[in-house]
Amino acid sequence: QASDKRKGEVEAARNAASAENLRSPICCILGHVDTGKTKLLDKIRQTNVQEGEAGGITQQIGATYFPVEALRKKTAVVNADGAFEFKVPGLLVIDTPGHESFTNLRSRGSSLCNIAILVVDIMHGLEPQTLESMRLLRDRKTPFIVALNKIDRLYNWKPIANNGFRDSLNMQQKSVQAEFRDRLEKTKVAFAEQGFNAELFYENKSMAKYVSLVPTSAHTGEGIPDMLKLLVTLTQERMTRQLMYLTEVECTVLEVKVIEGLGTTIDVVLSNGILHEGDTIVLCGTDGAITTQVRALLTPAEMKELRVKSVYVHNKTVKAALGVKITANGLDNAIAGSRLLVAKNKDDEDEIEELEEDVMGDLENLMSKISKTGRGVTVQASTLGSLEALLEFLKQSKIPVSSISIGPVHKRDVITASTMLEKAKEYAVMLCFDVKVDRDAVELADKMGVKIFTAEIIYHLFDDFTKHMKALQEQKKEESKMLAVFPCVLRPVAVFNKTDPIVIGVDVIEGNLRMGTPVAAVKMNPVTNVKDIISLGRVVSIQRDHKDLPICKKGSPSVAIKIESPNQPTYGRQLEEKDTLYSHISRASIDCLKEFYRDEVDKEEWGLIAKHLKGLFDIP
Ligand code: GDP
Repeated sequence: QASDKRKGEVEAARNAASAENLRSPICCILGHVDTGKTKLLDKIRQTNVQEGEAGGITQQIGATYFPVEALRKKTAVVNADGAFEFKVPGLLVIDTPGHESFTNLRSRGSSLCNIAILVVDIMHGLEPQTLESMRLLRDRKTPFIVALNKIDRLYNWKPIANNGFRDSLNMQQKSVQAEFRDRLEKTKVAFAEQGFNAELFYENKSMAKYVSLVPTSAHTGEGIPDMLKLLVTLTQERMTRQLMYLTEVECTVLEVKVIEGLGTTIDVVLSNGILHEGDTIVLCGTDGAITTQVRALLTPAEMKELRVKSVYVHNKTVKAALGVKITANGLDNAIAGSRLLVAKNKDDEDEIEELEEDVMGDLENLMSKISKTGRGVTVQASTLGSLEALLEFLKQSKIPVSSISIGPVHKRDVITASTMLEKAKEYAVMLCFDVKVDRDAVELADKMGVKIFTAEIIYHLFDDFTKHMKALQEQKKEESKMLAVFPCVLRPVAVFNKTDPIVIGVDVIEGNLRMGTPVAAVKMNPVTNVKDIISLGRVVSIQRDHKDLPICKKGSPSVAIKIESPNQPTYGRQLEEKDTLYSHISRASIDCLKEFYRDEVDKEEWGLIAKHLKGLFDIP
């Protein structure tokens, strides 16, 4: 017993030590539009009126901080016996829901978002942006839980405000419970189709293997206590290592904003370390690295302080994890999604140079994903994070990229893209994600024949591009019609008109004869012993019993064909009725069949080309 007690003490000491060193996890909310992301955020921020206090919930720049006290209160209904232990000091929830903030919370290709909530409307199931969010989460290996939101819309749902979900469900009529189960099962199937195994959170036996589904209502608050508890559980159990507090600064630019009176400012998330007023910081800019001094570290003033002039509070120092606005000179060209580095010694030029190289390396890394062949589409995105996500997606979709850029599309970007018009016309395309396009740029693109596709969902760009490629292919196929020659062998059975035009009766003895096919006879010149190819021209009509046919297949009854050409040979002179006629193929016609008509040529016909016609016309 004494040893048990001792063990307990050691364990407690260890927990205390690691708890002290754990920083707050950072959480993002993603999902399709209108699933209730904003409403859910509002609901979890909302202070409990009866308890009369916020429990220290603080509004930050671009984020809300929930200290452990607030989490304890908000999860009390599902932790009645208090058995659940909180190890993290709090939770930092990013306020701007959606891809933008998630993709920009990045550092060297990995995500600073420790955990995500993927919101799904239980009435709608998985929607396009849900799938895109799942793809992003998978690419960045970010653990997530799913809020199956809007449960209050289940028919006849009787709400109990802010209740734990399980308890609320038990209070519902059988029919409501049945509808819930039905929708839950459908959701699980839909997740499985995307390669994720999902389980209702209290039936989930392995958080490592299964994604947890938490039913919620942003209107009634039901399920939100479960959701918060689950977030904390998942971070504590699965990622204490990432949450170890480090003194080294880890910081990312979420947004670049012009604020009246402050100029261009950057909103950053500090996920580790400490920032001070006056620090020398280094970050990515569109025209190279930016090195500047922090003028102010701003957080929003609380409601009661709002009567004072400024809406912001100045901080001498700030400690991770939090969202803060930085004002400084020279931030005009700052790029969202950039890492922010801090110089130890602002006068050490070597150090600054190293930091500048380091930070710009992120952009160069993306440059290295550009196609080595110099052929590919042009890609433009609003931030480093979204550019990175887009490039990753294009790589998976096997669409080559020849140049990348960040920020709005200007004329000069169109000119860059237009270099593809000569190199590879199909890639004279700009895929623009979440960026503005200048009117001048649109006009120029139209004039030059550069296609600009813009979208706010990454894979819509893929769809646009795929459609574009298909249309080009159709156009080429149309243009190639005269080039395509389908293989056939004809045996003449009668000569109706000897020349100009030639009209003869034939049997198709191999392949299929189609309108437009050029035909030729191949004869040995008995005097010179050289092979003579006598071209007759193209077949302009195929008739049987005075009816026009588009095609005559091997073995069908004889047809009368008319062949036209400007200078035609004549039956009785160069040609004899017994001469077999062949479709006149060439290297180019074979290539054309392979490219556009692969499906329309069967095995036997390919055989006819390979074994017979190629040799006849001396095609290598
Ligand atoms: P977002 O686009 O994902 O941020 O979605 P919003 O939070 O703006 O919500 C979209 C709409 O759905 C709004 O009309 C909300 O009132 C409604 N909504 C959000 N959550 C719920 C919910 O839990 N129940 C019901 N009935 N409506 C909801």
